[in-house]
Amino acid sequence: MPYDNTEELRTKIIGLGETSVRKSYYPQLQDRILELERFHTLLDRSREMIILVEAEDGNCIVDCNAIVPTILGVPREAILNTEVVRWLPFEVVEIMTILKTQGEVKECCLVETIMPSPMGTFPVEFILQCASCSDKNYFIVMGSNISERKNAESKIYTLAFYDSLTQLPNRQLLNDRIIQALAKSQRHRKYGAILFVDLDNFKTLNDTKGHHIGDMLLVEVAQRVEEILRDGDTLGRLGGDEFIVLLEGLSYTMEVAAVEAKNFAQRIKETINRPYNLSGYAHTCSSSIGVTLFLGTEQTKDSLLKYADIAMYQAKQSGRNTICFYDPAMQEAIQLKMTMENELRSAILYNQLILFYQPQVDLSGIIVGLEALVRWNHPIKGLIAPNDFIPLAEETGLIISLGQWVLEEACRQIKIWEDRFSSHIKVSVNVSVKQFQEGSFYTMIADALYHSGVSGNLLKIELTESIIVDNILENIEKIKAIRSFGIGFSLDDFGTGYSSLSYLKRLPLDELKIDQSFIRDITMNSNDAMLVQTIIDVAHNFDLQVIAEGVENEEQLSFLKAFGCKIFQGYLFGKPIPVEEIERLLIHTL
Ligand code: C2E
Ligand code: MG
Ligand code: MG
Repeated sequence: MPYDNTEELRTKIIGLGETSVRKSYYPQLQDRILELERFHTLLDRSREMIILVEAEDGNCIVDCNAIVPTILGVPREAILNTEVVRWLPFEVVEIMTILKTQGEVKECCLVETIMPSPMGTFPVEFILQCASCSDKNYFIVMGSNISERKNAESKIYTLAFYDSLTQLPNRQLLNDRIIQALAKSQRHRKYGAILFVDLDNFKTLNDTKGHHIGDMLLVEVAQRVEEILRDGDTLGRLGGDEFIVLLEGLSYTMEVAAVEAKNFAQRIKETINRPYNLSGYAHTCSSSIGVTLFLGTEQTKDSLLKYADIAMYQAKQSGRNTICFYDPAMQEAIQLKMTMENELRSAILYNQLILFYQPQVDLSGIIVGLEALVRWNHPIKGLIAPNDFIPLAEETGLIISLGQWVLEEACRQIKIWEDRFSSHIKVSVNVSVKQFQEGSFYTMIADALYHSGVSGNLLKIELTESIIVDNILENIEKIKAIRSFGIGFSLDDFGTGYSSLSYLKRLPLDELKIDQSFIRDITMNSNDAMLVQTIIDVAHNFDLQVIAEGVENEEQLSFLKAFGCKIFQGYLFGKPIPVEEIERLLIHTL
């Protein structure tokens, strides 16, 4: 039977003295030695450092496994019976002291630290286990190399908090940094700033040159801005072409802090403006930068980011390559716009839009046409004029569904008048360029005519001169295709836009509408009078019908008549009015 400890075994062997007895214990002794050797081999094979330390003054190393001398780069003998402080990191020794001062040494502790070694330092996790043997206290110190675990941890951290393309802090880490910066600013009462940097026309580069070129630009921009950052400032990427710069420790006063932030934004703008060489492709780039200042924790991280975003949006609106500071009035305007957008969306769905009609008359005052003009019958605000919501509808894309409603409603009304009064009066419908350029516009027209059963001859489309700016050739083809339904085309607000005669010649039009601004002053301003006269002459030369809009008095009318204009629209003949009222006028005409 094996003995509990070697001491007992030794006493037995020495005490008994007799050869015969010694012989009888010899196999047991040999077994014991074998057992110890096996155990040592096992320990020596371990990749963990295992060190036995006396829990006495000096903490001497009593034993260690084979990997310990390898790591320390000295023979085992040099380690044994020396103080542990010579070899192991200070934190380990410190824990030993704490465990000893706790009185009874029986606790177990874990400490992560860096292990110095001639092979280079590496992270180690030490477990300190207290043990007693033959009335003596020991520490069993087991140390594992945790480099792999640490690498994996740092990889996970990088993936979670850094953008993989630019290696910059991502949205999550930025959020953390902003929260910390707010707390710091609260403590030191110093201003900080958030700069929202958005590259101008990045999408175009991506679409025309491919994503790999776009990515190269983002990486280069990140590097350039990082180079000019001061210590303690943060540059991060929110995603796409949106970067955030967090400036900390600016001045104690707002005015100075604003200048500091502005100067820094200027430097960013300039560094981004420098030419790029993207894999041989020479590129220039600009940025729109929105800036908001903060002091303390009054504003939340989310509202600050929103303010910087709003300011950036304003910078874009002011022509790009610009820096804008956040302005609360701007915020209010955006808020209002957003509310209005939502309301307008439901207005289209819930029939809050109505069409008014304004008569167009000939020389003898007979109604020869009607212009359909949309109004929004707002449940609270009442009737809203188109100039107050059409631009928003254009900006948000709502103009497509709004325009479709106008077209269908006008066709429905034409059909009713046709059936009820056998009316053949043309109705003009305003179509914005965005709506006209929509791929589905032709089909929308065809559907509206088909579903209402209205002949194209009774419909006229009013376009503005901006139709000339983009895709002129495509637009000409579209107008031609739509004209094949018998639909007429009128160029609205003529004289205010491009008015290029060469284009005018190429556009397949039926009518020019002289803008009301020229009619207004026709009697007082000789320039306007001359311009109107010229427009009328040119139109007649191009075989186009001319209509003067905004005719308000007899004087204007006689000027126009003298210039050869034959069709008129304006308050003199009637304001835009609802269907029931226009019907009363129509009955007299027909
Ligand atoms: P527009 O197409 O040039 O329409 C003429 C505008 O001048 C109308 O304003 C009309 O009420 C106004 N007007 C007519 N005669 C006179 C006059 O003698 N004196 C004065 N001071 N004004 C006169 P409204 O109805 O407020 O429409 C404004 C603009 O909104 C329109 O200008 C048009 O560009 C746009 N719009 C109206 N309805 C629609 C629509 O259904 N779709 C689109 N895309 N735009 C529309
Ligand atoms: Mg019009
Ligand atoms: Mg007009």
